[in-house]
Amino acid sequence: MVLRFQTPPLYLPRCLAERLERWAEEALPAEACGLLVGERASDGVHVREVVRLSNAAPARAEDLFELDPEEHLAVEQAADAAGLEVIGVWHSHPDSAARPSPTDTERAWEGWSYPIVGFAAHGARRELRSWRIGPSGPVEEPIEHRAHQPRALALDPRFLRPAAPVPER
Ligand SMILES: [Zn+2]
Repeated sequence: MVLRFQTPPLYLPRCLAERLERWAEEALPAEACGLLVGERASDGVHVREVVRLSNAAPARAEDLFELDPEEHLAVEQAADAAGLEVIGVWHSHPDSAARPSPTDTERAWEGWSYPIVGFAAHGARRELRSWRIGPSGPVEEPIEHRAHQPRALALDPRFLRPAAPVPER
């Protein structure tokens, strides 16, 4: 069951949202995944950087993702060193809408943001939506675009590898 409640927004600069969409597109037909690094404030969660991680479930990458634990730790440490924190996990659904699956819901941590890039209508429509997992299930978190205030993370560039432009769909 999907409930819609008013939750504080996820402030995700457009350039970072576009990066998630490109990474998701590039990984097709596999799921792409990674972390959001940012800051919590009284008006919502502000994303300062998005990071792409390896999918550590290569055998089932078309319908499952697992964050590589070593990469995850490296990003946590870099975020901490920059005075930021990991505030969520993003991933993609290569062949379905941008809604959390039962597995996504089961694995999610309360208080984290879960943006999903979905390819709905059998890949014809790309969409980006974000979710919080509350006690009674997924709650959509509105995404608001704001100017990017970048914060440098001391990270291996492979986590921020640029993506090729997405062809118009
Ligand atoms: Zn999923």
